[in-house]
Amino acid sequence: MSAFKTLDDLPQDLTGQRALVRVDLNLPMRDGRATDLTRARAVAPTILELSQRGAKVLLLAHFGRPKGERHSTLSLSEVLGAVEGVLDKEIMFISEIHGPVTAQAIDILGPGDIGLLENTRFWPGEEANDPEFAKGIAAHGDFYVNDAFSAAHRAHATTEGLARLLPAYAGRAMEKELKALDAALGNPEPPVAAVVGGAKVSTKLAVLENLSRRVQHLIIGGGMANTFLAANGVDVGKSLCEHDLTDTVKDILAAADEAGCTVHLPYDVVVAKEFSANPDSLRTCNVHEVAEDEMILDIGPQATEALGDVLKTCATLVWNGPLGAFETPPFDAATVALAKTAAALTQDGSLISVAGGGDTVAALAHAGVENDVTYISTAGGAFLEWMEGKELPGVAALSA
Ligand code: ADP
Ligand code: MG
Repeated sequence: MSAFKTLDDLPQDLTGQRALVRVDLNLPMRDGRATDLTRARAVAPTILELSQRGAKVLLLAHFGRPKGERHSTLSLSEVLGAVEGVLDKEIMFISEIHGPVTAQAIDILGPGDIGLLENTRFWPGEEANDPEFAKGIAAHGDFYVNDAFSAAHRAHATTEGLARLLPAYAGRAMEKELKALDAALGNPEPPVAAVVGGAKVSTKLAVLENLSRRVQHLIIGGGMANTFLAANGVDVGKSLCEHDLTDTVKDILAAADEAGCTVHLPYDVVVAKEFSANPDSLRTCNVHEVAEDEMILDIGPQATEALGDVLKTCATLVWNGPLGAFETPPFDAATVALAKTAAALTQDGSLISVAGGGDTVAALAHAGVENDVTYISTAGGAFLEWMEGKELPGVAALSA
C-alpha cells in the first residue's frame, strides 16, 4: 500500500473551506425507515471532525441503483433524518450535485455546516466516471475526502475521478480500514493464517489463488471444503460440491505447495441426511466415512481444535467465509469455536485478526466476538476484491 494523505495532513483550521466528502449512506430501508445505521455511524467521526474544524461539509453518496436517472424513491433525502439522528446535527439537503442551485445552497452554509447532495447515481456521469461530470462537482469543493472504502472497488466519478481533480484525503473510517487491511495482508507479521469458507469455491477462486501465494496457512472450511476433499478423492456423498472444479482445486493445491503454504482440510465433519435444525440423522464422522445419502454441513470438533492450535502459532489471521452452515444449529459449532479462539488470542495480544464478508460479519456477531477481533470489514465487494489482491481504484487514486 502506498502512502495516502489523511485528515491530519490538512490545516487544523478549515474555516469556510468546502470539503467534498464521499461516504457510504446506502442504508438498508424498510417502509421508508433505515433498519441499520452501521454505515452512517461509520462515517460520523469524519463528518463531525471536519465540521468541528470549521469546514463546510458536503456529503456525496449513492443510494440504490437508479441507473443514471432521477427516481423519487431513491432520493438521498430518504436517509436525511437517519443521518441527522446519528450525527445529532441538522443537515441541509441539496437536490442537485452541481450547477448554480448547488452553488447557491453551499453559499448559504456557514463554517461547520453540513450539506447532503443528491444521489450521485442519478447522473450517468457517476458510474461512467465522466471527467466533465467530475469537474462539475469538483468546482464546489476545495478538497476531497473519501471515507467510503465499500465503494472503492468502483472507479466512479465520486469514488475515483474527484481524487484526481482536487487535493485528496482518506477519511477516518477509510484510514482505519486501510491500516487494518495492510496489517492483515499487505504487510502482515508472519506466520499468517487465512480462513476461507462459505458456500462455493467458484465465488472465491481469485481469493484462493491470491492467498495461496501470500499466507503460510490456508484453512479451508464451509461448502467449498467439500470440493477440495473431492479433488483429493474423498466421496462427499450428497454434500454441496462443485465437481467440475476439482481440476482447478488441484491447481490451487499445487500452487500452495510450491509457495510453501500449508492447506488445512478437515479430517472430521458433521453430517446429516436432511438440512434442518438438529436433525435426527445428525452425526460426526471421519471425512472418509460420509455415506452416499449424507451431506457435510460443518467441519468436525477434532479438525476445529487442530485449527485452533494452528492459530496459536500464527501472528496474523485473515478470515472470509463461515466454516459451516452456521445459520442452522448445530452447524454453527466450528465457526463459533474457532471465532472464540481467534478472539481470545487477539485479546491476549498474540494475534492480529481481520475478517470480512457479508455472512462472515453475521457469523462473528453470532459468535459474540465482533468487539474482540482486531477489525471487521463490512465492505462486501471491496473487501473481497482486496482479498483477491486487486488494486482498488478508489484507494489507488488516494495514493497517487
Ligand atoms: P461471505 O458472505 O462471508 O463471503 P459466503 O457467502 O461465501 O460468505 O458463504 C456463506 C454461506 O455458506 C452461508 O450461508 C453458509 O450457510 C454456507 N455454507 C457454509 N458451509 C456450508 C456447507 N458445508 N454446506 C452448505 N452451505 C454452507
Ligand atoms: Mg455471502
